[in-house]
Amino acid sequence: MRITRVQLVEKPGNWGRHIVILGAGASVQAFPKGDANGKGLPTMDNLIAMLGLEPVLKRAGVKNRRRNFEKIYSELYETDPGLPILREIEDIIYAYFGSLELPEIPTLYDHLLISLRPKDIVATFNWDPFLFDAWNRLKDRVPMPEIVHLHGNVRLTYCPEHLTYGTHGMCCPACDKELISSRILYPVAMKDYVHDPFIKTEWEVLKRGLRQARTLTIFGYGAPTTDKEAVDILESAWDKNNRFAERTEIIDKKEKEVLWKQWERFIVRTYLDCTKNFYQSRLVNYPRRTCEALLEQTAYGLWVEDNPLPSNAGFDELVSWVKPFVEAEDSMRKAKDEKKNNGGIQT
Ligand SMILES: [Zn+2]
Repeated sequence: MRITRVQLVEKPGNWGRHIVILGAGASVQAFPKGDANGKGLPTMDNLIAMLGLEPVLKRAGVKNRRRNFEKIYSELYETDPGLPILREIEDIIYAYFGSLELPEIPTLYDHLLISLRPKDIVATFNWDPFLFDAWNRLKDRVPMPEIVHLHGNVRLTYCPEHLTYGTHGMCCPACDKELISSRILYPVAMKDYVHDPFIKTEWEVLKRGLRQARTLTIFGYGAPTTDKEAVDILESAWDKNNRFAERTEIIDKKEKEVLWKQWERFIVRTYLDCTKNFYQSRLVNYPRRTCEALLEQTAYGLWVEDNPLPSNAGFDELVSWVKPFVEAEDSMRKAKDEKKNNGGIQT
């Protein structure tokens, strides 16, 4: 017995969500040649050199400047959270990441967003604007997943009072005040997942989603020791001991044995898929149907035909390719609504 790609496309189900967590490695894989203008993507280890922060840190009296940027930032913050140099550093980082632009052709992030549905979530730790911009350029063409920014983002602004979101220059519809930038830098020791209203809300959305998730993809997130708290929150929401067939998928250039050890607390039984390349992941093989494919494979033991997303297609071709998927999803939703309404009349 097997499930063909046509069957998979035509029968979307409602078997939970797919949650994707993005770390710095995802943006590096998505933009190996940098942004549209060849501007590179810094990591925490080369940020100081790439953004020319060396003289600023020297002025601040930082002695050993060849270290992880987050650690240095934390030390300065602990000396005095009001140091003007902290503001200066933040402005430089904001300006650099804010200036990055998406290439015109479809990128890995466009493919990622198209491969998921509105029930799914992409949660990113990255400050770069690529996922945000990809979401915006596609949002009127394909129904897409929700995105959450776990460490803030250079494009995102919000109203701290009404928790409304937007981008720079927008005003809050409730109080008409200009939305403020989401904070991107936090000292390591006090990543404010509980107190900062913006970050707190983003984490709440992710935690709720994770509890209903059937597939979890961790893409290029190294779970740095500086972010132990984040991994603890993820673990308790995923809660692997209360699961039976859920799938964890890791897209990372490290070897499987290393990843197994690192992510053991997220692996349900022995269900771990590892790949180094996004284009070999379940997301690309079963776009918009990852959870359905998993149900057929694990609960019914069926073989599910691959249906890879056309990764070399242009935007128009991509949108036409996903059209049958979207139509089937619309019909499913309509049928469900009708059932609900009919049920309402009878009772
Ligand atoms: Zn407001």
